[in-house]
Amino acid sequence: MEFNKEYFRNVILRLIPMFEEHRDYLSKLDSDIGDGDHGINMSIGFREVEKQIDKIYEETDDIASFYKKVGMIILGKVGGAAGPLYGSLFMKAGEDVKGQNSLTFPEFVNFIENGIKSIEARGKAVVGDKTMVDALRPAIDAMKNELESGKSEIEIFENFVNELKEGSDRTIPLIAKKGRAMRLGERAVGFRDPGSFSSYLIYKEFLEEMKKLDE
Ligand code: ADP
Ligand code: MG
Repeated sequence: MEFNKEYFRNVILRLIPMFEEHRDYLSKLDSDIGDGDHGINMSIGFREVEKQIDKIYEETDDIASFYKKVGMIILGKVGGAAGPLYGSLFMKAGEDVKGQNSLTFPEFVNFIENGIKSIEARGKAVVGDKTMVDALRPAIDAMKNELESGKSEIEIFENFVNELKEGSDRTIPLIAKKGRAMRLGERAVGFRDPGSFSSYLIYKEFLEEMKKLDE
């Protein structure tokens, strides 16, 4: 499978309506253990991405710089903790593939891991802190382990998305050690971390677009 710049644009074109559709649910999750703005924040950011996508797609000539511009818009528009974190996810993903207009599956996996690493570097959260890292880190580790498994690329990526969902589920019984929910102590127990769910939703769209490559 080959992941070209058009694939990466189509993913963004999916994320825009996805964040509209899930805006209220994500904000509801955030109102349980935060300030209730996560869905609104993401929707504001991706509305701005929608306005600028044609321009930034045309003015960039590789995947890395296209996503860097997407990340810069998110960084500039999305408020709260998630803005800088998701901004850096998109900005840093392409660091190892500068100048490329097409990625192999292993390069694509590395692209995703680079984004996750930048979230970890910025937010300093580790697994168990009740953040998006609880979804992202175990899922990317599982995917890397499957690269040599002989499974199809779609199957490996489907497992990645399932692991993200499970990682998000595992945040429910936790006490938060990072972010706004930290202040709640025991009162955060029983509620899902909103960022872990938005992370799952993001890569679900990468998967949906990947299925089109497979047709
Ligand atoms: P805020 O908490 O500032 O209102 P959002 O509501 O947009 O920001 O985003 C909250 C989400 O950000 C949390 O659900 C959590 O997943 C994530 N988050 C917060 N702090 C960190 C951190 N230090 N590292 C990783 N993720 C974090
Ligand atoms: Mg919030």
